[in-house]
Amino acid sequence: MENPEKYGFNSQLIHYSGHHDSYGAATVPIYQTSTFGFASAQDGADCFAGIKQGYMYTRIGNPTIRALERQVALLEHGCDSVALASGMAAVSTVYLGLLNAGDHVVSSSAVYGASRVLLEQHMARFGVDSTFVNTADIEQVKAAVTPKTRMVYIETPANPTMEISDIRACAELAHSVGALLVVDNTFCSPYLSNPIDFGADVVLHSITKFINGHADIVGGIVIAGKEDVYSKLRNAMINFGGNMDPHQAYLVIRGLKTLGIRIDRAQDNARKVAEFLASHPKVEWVKYPGLKTHPQYDLAQKQMKGPGTMISFSLKGGLEAGRTLMDNVKMCILAVSLGGVETLIQHPASMTHSKVPQEAREKAGITDGLVRFSVGIENVEDIIGDLSQALEKIR
Ligand SMILES: *Cc1c(COP(=O)(O)O)cnc(C)c1O
Repeated sequence: MENPEKYGFNSQLIHYSGHHDSYGAATVPIYQTSTFGFASAQDGADCFAGIKQGYMYTRIGNPTIRALERQVALLEHGCDSVALASGMAAVSTVYLGLLNAGDHVVSSSAVYGASRVLLEQHMARFGVDSTFVNTADIEQVKAAVTPKTRMVYIETPANPTMEISDIRACAELAHSVGALLVVDNTFCSPYLSNPIDFGADVVLHSITKFINGHADIVGGIVIAGKEDVYSKLRNAMINFGGNMDPHQAYLVIRGLKTLGIRIDRAQDNARKVAEFLASHPKVEWVKYPGLKTHPQYDLAQKQMKGPGTMISFSLKGGLEAGRTLMDNVKMCILAVSLGGVETLIQHPASMTHSKVPQEAREKAGITDGLVRFSVGIENVEDIIGDLSQALEKIR
């Protein structure tokens, strides 16, 4: 595909792979090899010196992985990207590759549980300080940045509170003190939001979720807007060794082709599920960017191409009601993770965010009664039917 940026998103998904196949294969082959032979001593020396483009060793680069990296960079409007073994390998590569001892990070308080643990418990050991605020409130970000702030790290919509941070405002604030804005865009996928267009410097994804979409692999990717940041990220990946595997990359490339139609379908379902929940007498509140009751409904319209497939809600009976609901669903799977073709239900306070202390959890809006729902592509009447019969069991 020549000039791929001229084509629509779904055409890019199907026809642009960043791989040129000499046999004309319609799909990207799996280069299941750890190493690559050189034509001569000079050839090997030139490749390692960077004078010649060529593959040397799979941790450093591999054609199957490269195809995925080029494709996701195109979809996210970045200059290039680095694929990693997991979403957390992507997060740690961002921290380790872009921060130094003495630096300060301002992060959303409602981030993926492990992203917070990594900053608070591990990056702190290397002299990186962090402050957690509700980045959906720009005043809190303003108050938290210091001359030492080198990174503002946001997740939008936030996990699992569904609060939305203003990407453009966060980028301007970060840049005003010489910091980078990093956006964990896992909840949107490149189909619903492209943070680089709003000023973000780095975008990352847990590929495990929407990009792969079939709940069969774990992976991550980091996209850089500019070359200097990209080369730091690639250097960190190569030396810390969190690289993706070629077979893993192949599965992601396969799953990615249907990203657009998967999200379209799941989003249609999610809208209906959110409306059903909002009108149900046992539900206390529903947070879904597609409902007018969402506190940042207007901002969602501005920076997202659709409200997505993730819903958070709280039951009137709190923790006990939540347990009853989760113990009684018959089709939806009681499981962590999200963004796949199957509907998943989980309870953050006892599952994904159980390692975050209760006080910090409550402060971040992750109440004991909060239930997180990832809507899949099943028949919507079956999803609603399943929820409905499980809600009936709550006394
Ligand atoms: C799942 C997830 C991660 C971590 O990704 P893994 O692939 O599980 O390592 C990071 N951020 C968000 C928002 C996630 O949902």
